[in-house]
Amino acid sequence: MKIAENVFGYRTAIANIAYIAGLGSMKEDWVLIDTGVPYSAPFILKNIKPLFHEKKPLAIILTHAHFDHIGALQTLVNEWNVPVYIHEKEIPYLESKKKYPAPTPFKEKGMMSFLSPFYPRDGIDFHSIIKPISSEDSLPFLMGWKWIHTPGHTVGHISLFREKDQLLLAGDALITVKQESLFAVLTQKKEIHGPPAYFTPDVETSFRSIEKLQSLDPKILYTGHGVPMYGKEIREGINELLSQHSTGSLVKGI
Ligand SMILES: [Zn+2]
Ligand SMILES: [Zn+2]
Repeated sequence: MKIAENVFGYRTAIANIAYIAGLGSMKEDWVLIDTGVPYSAPFILKNIKPLFHEKKPLAIILTHAHFDHIGALQTLVNEWNVPVYIHEKEIPYLESKKKYPAPTPFKEKGMMSFLSPFYPRDGIDFHSIIKPISSEDSLPFLMGWKWIHTPGHTVGHISLFREKDQLLLAGDALITVKQESLFAVLTQKKEIHGPPAYFTPDVETSFRSIEKLQSLDPKILYTGHGVPMYGKEIREGINELLSQHSTGSLVKGI
């Protein structure tokens, strides 16, 4: 699915990934953002074929290390042997040295929340290929883009922003579907929503991160879950989410 100029989206079961193209000297130079749910590698490889032919990406960039964003990482790294960029604070989780806090299924009711204790939280050993991103760094390859530290959902969560068309790839910092609701996930009903509640240990920080993203005034929004959004519905949705949060009118948590 084309999201914007040189940016494509693909949904692996419940989680989105993105391809950013047109980056290097060759037309087919590209990077992969996130790697989807486990077992999605064959689907990703098939999906990128018509876009990039046999060309592997210059790098993989991860918004964070939750299982539904790193599911195909091991297989794709074995296949491509390319560097993997991730915020330095997220690395211990990716490398299994730290575990994410247990999900909190009762923050919000709904089937997806009910299932969350069964979501795997263990990391994998990727030590040799990981490139940490720290505050001074800019991301290689991504000319015209900047990354924004958007903690709360996880400590080292990042979002990506392209100035020229105000395109925001927000990972799970905020999403465009109510991920806790099985019905909304199945129908992909569009709605600006806080990060998935069952996996967000620091809700207050996650809302500070959403304010940071609001200040960028995104005109195109593609997130880790849900459909892309365009134009003023983004601003309206974010404003509404923040005002509901500040008045405490959000139902249970986020
Ligand atoms: Zn997540
Ligand atoms: Zn996610």
